[in-house]
Amino acid sequence: MTHKFIPYGKQSIDQDDIQAVIDTLRSDFLTTGPKITEFEQKFADYIGCKYALSLTSGTAALHAACFASGIQSGDEVITTPITFAATSNSILYVGAKPVFADIDPNTYNLNPLEVEKRITSQTKAIIAVDYTGQPAQLFELRKIAKQHHLVLIEDAAHSLGSKIKDKQYRWHMIGTISDLTTFSFHPVKHITTAEGGMVCTNDDNLYDKLLLFKTHGITKDPKGFHNSQEGNWYYEQHLLGYNYRMSDLQAALGISQLSKLNHFIKRRHEIASRYNQAFSQNQWKEKLTIPYQAKNTRSSFHIYVIKLNLSKIGRSRKDLFDTLRKFNIGVNVHYIPVYYHPYYQKLGYRKGICPIAENFYEEIITLPIHPSMTDEDVEYIIKSVKYAINN
Ligand SMILES: *Cc1c(COP(=O)(O)O)cnc(C)c1O
Repeated sequence: MTHKFIPYGKQSIDQDDIQAVIDTLRSDFLTTGPKITEFEQKFADYIGCKYALSLTSGTAALHAACFASGIQSGDEVITTPITFAATSNSILYVGAKPVFADIDPNTYNLNPLEVEKRITSQTKAIIAVDYTGQPAQLFELRKIAKQHHLVLIEDAAHSLGSKIKDKQYRWHMIGTISDLTTFSFHPVKHITTAEGGMVCTNDDNLYDKLLLFKTHGITKDPKGFHNSQEGNWYYEQHLLGYNYRMSDLQAALGISQLSKLNHFIKRRHEIASRYNQAFSQNQWKEKLTIPYQAKNTRSSFHIYVIKLNLSKIGRSRKDLFDTLRKFNIGVNVHYIPVYYHPYYQKLGYRKGICPIAENFYEEIITLPIHPSMTDEDVEYIIKSVKYAINN
């Protein structure tokens, strides 16, 4: 069985996307021009939030969110270990301490009860991650945050277009619930700008801070000046910010990609349904667990992660992984618990602090899912996974 390599995630770029970038290259603005404004407006409209602010990456978006929340040295921020390192790195960027709380064994997202246990007088914020696209228990987390006067930040790098229903049966789009929600436009995510990110908020104050932060801390708005304006050249720096500006070239690509987002999500759902169907038949059900889907959520399936019952299968995860890679299937493991990394170990984190997350890590494997996969690719993967498990 030779088949072309199928990565776990990949961008879908068409002629419209290419043309949008070329048109912008020929325009007057390469950076911070009309495409940035248009992308931010269209993104905010799609989400249904007041403000969307573009940045150079999802990581920059997280850094900005931590800064705008007022998190600083001496503060603690509670987050999940089952995420990409950028989530907790953003806590370190502002000098605060990441505190890892364990995940829920069914949803694989931050367990609100574990979060509550880790709150101290130093706790300033919670960063939830909608792992795989499955929304975290956002209403429970928001309630905890309110009770303890914490900021709720949501890393929605996996969950652009995901939805969650509240107790009154109203659907909410991800990006409208937490104080600050961050997105990534890396090529494996739902839409891409090559590199890029966005922060969404409904809060005027937070938005002002985010805006300053991404442009060196410099303002040109006379309303905010500390000193009187000396002339039209005048501007002031008020805090130590960064250059985290997205370019107009990227925004042009983002606008074009956003117009196709609903089609991309639909295709992701088709592929996930086919996997679910193939792996929920009896003989497979006892060997692996398909992704959890809460009744009150609709995931946009950034990644498709199965949990292996290794004792029933009788082979190691590494064995299965290597076999599937030999079949040219770009399986992956999302994620190594963040505090396993040598950098975090050096900071003093030890294995054992989140046992459910640690066990989970041993049993998972990510199967490819992205809109440009063909039905034939999907069937090839299903056949190969079944073969690998049975042989
Ligand atoms: C991709 C990702 C990020 C970082 O986004 P970049 O745009 O690559 O900086 C952060 N958190 C999670 C969970 C991610 O998957």
